[in-house]
Amino acid sequence: MRIVFYEKLWYFKRMIKKITVLILIIALSMSLGTALANEDEITVIDVSALEDQYEEQDDPAIPLPAQTDPPIQTSSARKRVAYLTFDDGPVRDITCRILDILEREGIPATFFVLPKKDNDDIFWRMINEGHEIANHSSTHNYYRLYGSSIDSFLDDVMANHYFIKNRFGYTMTSFRFPGGPFGRPPEVIEERREALAAIGYREFVWCVDPQDWRDHVRAKGGRQLASLVLYQVGGLSDRRHINILFHDTSGTTVSALPYVIAGLRERGFTFDITRNFPFSNEEIEMFEEVATAQRTARINKTRLRQHHTTLATESLE
Ligand SMILES: [Zn+2]
Repeated sequence: MRIVFYEKLWYFKRMIKKITVLILIIALSMSLGTALANEDEITVIDVSALEDQYEEQDDPAIPLPAQTDPPIQTSSARKRVAYLTFDDGPVRDITCRILDILEREGIPATFFVLPKKDNDDIFWRMINEGHEIANHSSTHNYYRLYGSSIDSFLDDVMANHYFIKNRFGYTMTSFRFPGGPFGRPPEVIEERREALAAIGYREFVWCVDPQDWRDHVRAKGGRQLASLVLYQVGGLSDRRHINILFHDTSGTTVSALPYVIAGLRERGFTFDITRNFPFSNEEIEMFEEVATAQRTARINKTRLRQHHTTLATESLE
């Protein structure tokens, strides 16, 4: 009798277990159905936020998307560099407008300056905005520079050197002969070149000269001046380095500058300061050729190479 009772109890318990499992299954499938039915109400994950997070984490283990291969370098794709140079300044109104354009375009340039007082703010701008200040003598006086002794020449050059050095702590290392070295007695220029090299200066001529100091050129206006520059650049298509001579003494030069920059960019040029000019054989030949073209002083290639590679800056300290 007792056994029968326990057997019934056991069956009863087993049935309750089965019913419980069944109820659980029904409840689960019902909740799943509800979840699927309410799919629209599921919060949408903001993928862009995740992407931001991913970028911030920048996990180096996860490979970045493959980048396109860089274009194959050909000789025609050689980097060409333009050196914009401005002589005889600063001239407050003109030089400031040129600096504004260069700042807007993000371009460095070289200013072959004279030691003009009351322009400290302009010199500071040149330094702080990444331009090069270069020596163009103190007086620009051809007699003192070329008609007198070598000491007279050096005194003139060093007066400008220390004007800039003492006021701004800036050491100039580039020089341009006032009026250029062309058409002067070769021995006079050679002697001065050696003196410049001995005090750590590199000399720069130019290969593009629109003669923007001449009244009839200025009268033509900015666009004409720019097309003259670009025309001359076009004649030097085999040159990687183009040194362009301007003067920051005329409004025409200011209005030409944006067109010149745009035209040079179109032709694939980047811009740099003369201090960064590399002196390879090609460059020396370029200067030699320019000098020959001007039918002026013969340049001894070996001496010129020595001149340009001797940077005895410490002799200036
Ligand atoms: Zn000059």
